[in-house]
Amino acid sequence: MSKCIIVLIRQDLRLHDHPALYKASQEGKVIPLYILDEETSQFPTGEAKKWWLHQNLEAFQTSLQSINGRLWMDKGKVESVLRQWVKKTGAQAVYWNRVYDPQVYERDLKLAHSLSSQGIEVQTFEGTLLLPPWEIKKDDDTPYKVYSAFYRSIRKEEIPKPVPSVNELKVPALDQGKSLNELGLLPSIPWFRVMSSIWEPGEKAAIKRFNAFMGKSLDDYSEGRDFPAEGHHSTLSPYLALGIISVRSMYHTLLEKEDRLIEPFIKQLIWRDFSYSVLLHFPKSPTHPLNGKFENFPWQQEKDHWERWTKGETGYPIVDAGMRELWATGFMHNRVRMIVASFLTKHLLIPWQKGARWFLETLIDADLANNSMGWQWVAGSGVDPAPYFRIFNPTLQSEKFDGEGAYIRMWVPELRDVPSRYIHMPSDAPEHILEHAGVVLGEDYPYPIVDHKAARKRALERYDQIK
Ligand code: FAD
Repeated sequence: MSKCIIVLIRQDLRLHDHPALYKASQEGKVIPLYILDEETSQFPTGEAKKWWLHQNLEAFQTSLQSINGRLWMDKGKVESVLRQWVKKTGAQAVYWNRVYDPQVYERDLKLAHSLSSQGIEVQTFEGTLLLPPWEIKKDDDTPYKVYSAFYRSIRKEEIPKPVPSVNELKVPALDQGKSLNELGLLPSIPWFRVMSSIWEPGEKAAIKRFNAFMGKSLDDYSEGRDFPAEGHHSTLSPYLALGIISVRSMYHTLLEKEDRLIEPFIKQLIWRDFSYSVLLHFPKSPTHPLNGKFENFPWQQEKDHWERWTKGETGYPIVDAGMRELWATGFMHNRVRMIVASFLTKHLLIPWQKGARWFLETLIDADLANNSMGWQWVAGSGVDPAPYFRIFNPTLQSEKFDGEGAYIRMWVPELRDVPSRYIHMPSDAPEHILEHAGVVLGEDYPYPIVDHKAARKRALERYDQIK
């Protein structure tokens, strides 16, 4: 009798380079099972990512059906739901690709132990990263805290080649579980119109996007990746966040190019591995500053500042453009993420943890490791952080990276007709220029909620208090 194996599906909605599914497909009948467990993580999936997850579970279901397979779905606490499935199906084994959200990871360790003690075979695989996050360590066996050293070290390693794509599955005849709609991932009000017009779900779309990036944008990536309106970044993060594309497959495809142009992009992929290494070794990093001094940082939260930041009404066009892009599309360009995060923590003195939660709630690429790393980096409290005293001037950043204001014009249409010279700070424009552009400050577009120089000075004084 052939073996029956449950493969727990999580951050790996793909058929290519799926080590757990591939191994299972070679050994017997397979039950790919997705269990929506909203209780385990301290960080429930945000609404935008839930929408994205729904689309991609649907696409993955179709992919599995195309190889005679199927995706079963269920809902509830993984420990108990999985046990019921093992019992009902008589499965002899459970395989999964590891997930590194600290609570999920801890839960999975216990789960593996308890299943094994009941005679169920458990096998776990690396399906998320280039290498498991414990493999790259310093000579003294402690984790790296400096990115450049981590990068040099991982770059010397042999990254395992992707496993072959699964092209046929044997599945048992089983009629149980829940339908995708019963998971309740979609909001009752369909606010996702813009998102659905931009993001095409599924593995084929992810691979197509990657190939298009390799063919067109990679050459300009190094120079152009910081310019939000120019489109030289890959926009693959929503696919990587759900494992719709495999990072190892991307890495090996890049290496085949044997070109120095690949390195800047590989460096970004390695930032992702670095973030996961930090998350695994410092599991409190999503909520606690890695530099303990920041525990006592004298934050100050003024009444309406938070709301105006989330809505993109700060009076700093580049910040507002970023926040509105986020709300409409579930995505924000990396340079702009840095600018809005710096503005929140330094100009408005609002704790980075609050901003990080907002990002997790609104990003479709929400990723606990990358997000915590990004926020702590900007706030100056993380590993290898930007020095606190380096406070971005949002207007200069805007002039440098969105010179003609194309990005601002796209997301802050009320400033569409303001000349490039003034679009970065409309309150500096002479009256007649604004009049000509049809903008009345305070009515069509807000005055800046803080003055940059004063805010910078205040932030540095606060920093002096904890230094
Ligand atoms: P590309 O420039 O094309 O890079 C390719 C891939 O490399 C990305 O998809 C991503 O997986 C990885 N990568 C790139 N930059 C980084 C980085 N700085 N750190 C870690 N990995 C990186 N990224 C997320 O995936 N999810 C998040 O929740 C997230 N939150 C962030 C919050 C803040 C405050 C900051 C400053 C950054 C955050 N990032 C996050 C990292 C980065 O902004 C995004 O990965 C990037 O903008 C995604 O766009 P892209 O796919 O076009 O990137």
